[in-house]
Amino acid sequence: MNCKLLSVLCVAASVHAASAFTIDYDIPAGNVIVDSIEGDVAKVRQDLRDTKNGWFYWAFRVKGAAGKTVKFVFTDKYGGGPVGVRGPVVSKDGGKTFAYPLDGKSKADGFTYTFGPDEDETLFYECHPYVLANWEAFVARHAADIAAGKMKVETLCKSRKGADVPRVRYGCLSGTPKYRFLVTCRHHCSESMASWVVEGIADAFMADDDLGKWLRENVELMCVPMMDFDGVQAGDQGKNRAPHDHNRDYTEFLYPETKALTEWVMGYAGGRLDAFLDVHCPWVRGQYNEFVYTPLKDPKVYPATEGFFSATIEKLQEGGLRYKASDDLGFGVSWNKGVTYEQGWSSSSWVVHNVKGLKTCRSFEIPFANANGAVVTPEKCRLFGHGVANALRVLMENSQPKL
Ligand SMILES: [Zn+2]
Repeated sequence: MNCKLLSVLCVAASVHAASAFTIDYDIPAGNVIVDSIEGDVAKVRQDLRDTKNGWFYWAFRVKGAAGKTVKFVFTDKYGGGPVGVRGPVVSKDGGKTFAYPLDGKSKADGFTYTFGPDEDETLFYECHPYVLANWEAFVARHAADIAAGKMKVETLCKSRKGADVPRVRYGCLSGTPKYRFLVTCRHHCSESMASWVVEGIADAFMADDDLGKWLRENVELMCVPMMDFDGVQAGDQGKNRAPHDHNRDYTEFLYPETKALTEWVMGYAGGRLDAFLDVHCPWVRGQYNEFVYTPLKDPKVYPATEGFFSATIEKLQEGGLRYKASDDLGFGVSWNKGVTYEQGWSSSSWVVHNVKGLKTCRSFEIPFANANGAVVTPEKCRLFGHGVANALRVLMENSQPKL
């Protein structure tokens, strides 16, 4: 190569370097594949990892784009595209706070973002993240409650990657409680809004109010906040993993968490629970994905009190997520059919067939960004969880268990 060509290449490289920005996923629950960056257009897509078919979780960081306007184009348009109905969830302070700055200005397959003059590092997430650090912050916030015996953090099992998977007990921890509840979430690890609802349910057990007092006197809440623990940290899709995901694992028990959960229930709880709630998030947009609901199960098998519980949640709800019992998905409607469970039992299938005493046994679907027109945020989800805890009290005091 002659000197002239070399210097031209050097100039070109330095010009490129001066204008270049980077996209990476070295952030909590990061997930992206960068197809190309040309000028101020970045082509990216969600990394499916071991998920069969398509899904929509992604999370990435942009560095060095201060003052630029960048068009982000998602090249995997499965289901229309992976961008939420209020656009990306964005943090300009390294993940301390998040907002929807492009609400109403994004498309399903992309968005255009203008970085501020000093905005050198920005995080973009499909949904509000909830990872181990969030869980640890929750535990730290409740240090006094742990000291007071209202909350006890234990280990469910070792994950496949060798991490301690937390399990927690809240409420009536001394003596035999009158009622025992089990609450789980993140069977599908990317469904992060579920975690904020579960925080709200747990908060109710430690609050210094009438409901908190009643819960601590009468109920022990058993909780696994991250069922697919490794997937939560890694930023996997989690849904439809090959050969099946965590919430279709209650027949084969490929994952340590599912097996350990069943052993905890049959051992510690003696195979009796008054309530089981498994909190999820639905698809990213569209019908049945933009309101809170429960997919109701076969009434021949599941508790007869589900309708009463739904009506009570609607009445006592907090947080403004506009839940309507009439939004629940009837058994046999849409995807909510027995055939969906052929690949393996879900957690609620296992519970309803193995556990006695249930007054409710259900999942919840918490939308990512839009709930009947309301903006979904972590704080609103927490408040919704508090309302669910209040409704559980009413359910306990006004219904007979399924024997
Ligand atoms: Zn799910």
